[in-house]
Amino acid sequence: TAKKRKNSFAFFSTEFKALRDRNSIIEQELRSALEKEEFYVVYQPQIDRNGDLHGVEALIRWESKKLGNVPPDRFVQIAEESGLMPKIGHFVLKKSLEEIGNLQKQCDINFFVSINVSIRQFHENDFTGKLLEEIQETGFDPSRIVIEITESLFIEELEQIVRLLQEIKTKGVRIALDDFGTGYSSLSLLKKLPIDELKIDKSFIDTLLTEKESEAMVNAIITLGKNLGFDIVAEGVEERRQYTWLVEKGCDLYQGYLFAKPMRIDKLMKFIEKSTST
Ligand code: C2E
Ligand code: CA
Ligand code: CA
Ligand code: CA
Repeated sequence: TAKKRKNSFAFFSTEFKALRDRNSIIEQELRSALEKEEFYVVYQPQIDRNGDLHGVEALIRWESKKLGNVPPDRFVQIAEESGLMPKIGHFVLKKSLEEIGNLQKQCDINFFVSINVSIRQFHENDFTGKLLEEIQETGFDPSRIVIEITESLFIEELEQIVRLLQEIKTKGVRIALDDFGTGYSSLSLLKKLPIDELKIDKSFIDTLLTEKESEAMVNAIITLGKNLGFDIVAEGVEERRQYTWLVEKGCDLYQGYLFAKPMRIDKLMKFIEKSTST
């Protein structure tokens, strides 16, 4: 088999090797990133139909001393594959509930916080139990928390995942289905899932006003989602015309650079003070 392996390696392009090497450097650096306190959380506002703040999505950032800023699209999957994601996920949960909890007290305001949970986190032993315990420890109102999952979760045994989601929901935590429309799952899945929000993927919003197909898709997603009783969230809204189109179609919540980019907690505080002072 040694010979066989050698042959198959011959098919690897130098580009592929470079990528693999870089991935292993990222993995190596990821292992110590938590201790070195290289992670932090940024928050992107979600706006309702009236233009008021509804909530924020917590998004992780990694400022590596060795590699510089590494975007989550570049390292989350590596963290998943190397088993590091549960720990990083706990950091995001704790940090965001702590920071947002403090801000809400200080500003005497209430809003939702959405947290991304990846597929591997769900596989952790007693994931839901630990999640609910951690939420309780922070004292954050569970009914103001949204857990964002993606369709990739449902490659796994559906019944088991549904059970876990229902367990999370007993405490009032909401569930959002993220990046909707990009996975391979069928529409019939929607009626089986105990979800509260449907987030239309940015790729559909990007081409909303330029491609008839996207317009048809978004229109159908909103109608179907609303009929199933979900709140519909549009993400990646960058243009006013996209926003007005979506408002007209009955979309509930909006997230995108048109309103605000993800920001650190101190900037979010200023953003909130500014928007509530009028
Ligand atoms: P996502 O969950 O779909 O998050 C939305 C992404 O779209 C964010 O990228 C956000 O900055 C970006 N975005 C929002 N509005 C706009 C817009 O108007 N224009 C453009 N160009 N981009 C916009 P980000 O922060 O780079 O995160 C990328 C992905 O990494 C996330 O996609 C999510 O899948 C993953 N991720 C980020 N933070 C976490 C985390 O704490 N845990 C887990 N498991 N995954 C995370
Ligand atoms: Ca998300
Ligand atoms: Ca998304
Ligand atoms: Ca995405």
